[in-house]
Amino acid sequence: MKKVLILGSTGSIGTQALEIIRNNKDKFKAVGLTGRSRLDVLAEQIREFEPEAVCVGSADDAAKLEKMLRDGNNSDDYGNRMPEIFYGDEGLVQIAGMDCDIVLNALMGISGLAPTYEAISNGRDIALANKETLVAGGEIITELCREKGVKLLPVDSEHSAIFQCLEGNGGSACGSAYSANGSSQIRRILLTASGGPFRGRTLEEMRDVTIEQALNHPKWSMGSKITIDSATMMNKGLEVIEARWLFDVPADKIDIHVHPESIVHSMVEFMDGSVMAQMGLPDMKVPISYALNYPCRMNLLPEFTGLDTDRGNDGSLDLFTTGRSLTFEKPERKVFKCIDLAYEAIKAGGSAPIVMNGANEELVAMFLAGKIRFLDIADTIEKVMESIAHSTPGSVEEILEIDKNARLKAREKLKA
Ligand code: NAD
Ligand code: MG
Repeated sequence: MKKVLILGSTGSIGTQALEIIRNNKDKFKAVGLTGRSRLDVLAEQIREFEPEAVCVGSADDAAKLEKMLRDGNNSDDYGNRMPEIFYGDEGLVQIAGMDCDIVLNALMGISGLAPTYEAISNGRDIALANKETLVAGGEIITELCREKGVKLLPVDSEHSAIFQCLEGNGGSACGSAYSANGSSQIRRILLTASGGPFRGRTLEEMRDVTIEQALNHPKWSMGSKITIDSATMMNKGLEVIEARWLFDVPADKIDIHVHPESIVHSMVEFMDGSVMAQMGLPDMKVPISYALNYPCRMNLLPEFTGLDTDRGNDGSLDLFTTGRSLTFEKPERKVFKCIDLAYEAIKAGGSAPIVMNGANEELVAMFLAGKIRFLDIADTIEKVMESIAHSTPGSVEEILEIDKNARLKAREKLKA
């Protein structure tokens, strides 16, 4: 029985992970859950999965949650089963230190960094959905994984695909793929991208897009922040940096391929010219379950699980219909400027990706709040990156300080 702590259990990845756990109670036990909003959903999850510990956003929410659990249960003895309730950023780090076998980090944004660092420090394996952790803290996180012998298992679909292509090809769960046998076996990573809702548009055509249009992703249903990142294509930029750290491959060997069908989830070209691809209908339960159950696959086909899959009738890829035409395009880097910003950031290293990530997170939140226009996001990230002096942080605290400063600068630039 694997004990799983889910950071961000109320989100898109978190709820899908719980669906997998619900259907595999002999394999997994959810020992810890966290959520910053949707307290009612969290309370429901607690009643069903009976975790030992949970974490919410604030002391107020902790009190509300406790009351919801007692009231909802109609019994006096719920106290015995009441989980330990942590709260706030500190609580998230505390719960990350709890006893478990694997931590699924499905948090949004930079909030994932400190708890991941804590979990790795305690020797816990990590199933990582939260790419921002590696964008901001790639160097210290991967170093700590090596030091502690911790597996960093990708949940992001492209990175899971690359990871699967590397299995049996000198890959490992953290890092050594590129330098296997002392030299690179990987010639190139072909990172696929759906292109998002605005693929094919000009800058002019994106000037007045609405929040609803930007949230309307053609292939994936995800949390709002990553959905906006997909619309600006910053998501792909973040993923280039994520891949650089997960697989220890220089960014100039990572090529983005826009693939609107979203069937090929990414590819690896090896030094003998052989190209491996991982394919399948888009369904995040595949990478989530592979990371949780690594190195074994799980049976996700509907006749076995009864799960509601996003994959159509029998859940199987039909190359005669859906997969009949698989196309690939170069990304429009002049239109989707975030891609080049990300390559510049990883090339500069140190504080640059942290600044880019922090500014992006702040600006996406402002766009979602209706305070700025869509194109302000990329334009302002660029200005913030130009205006902050380069530095080389050596700790999580220093990274968080740079992140804070970048957010401040982003707001200043827009005088919001
Ligand atoms: P989401 O917004 O649906 O869920 C995020 C979860 O984190 C929620 O439980 C929320 O309450 C919690 N949370 C948010 N901000 C927090 C904070 N400051 N402190 C503590 N908790 C906080 O997001 P999601 O779509 O599930 O994505 C989670 C992560 O996985 C992101 O890094 C995203 O880029 C990555 N990812 C998601 C998908 C997907 O299909 N959704 C695919 C690939 C990668
Ligand atoms: Mg992805």
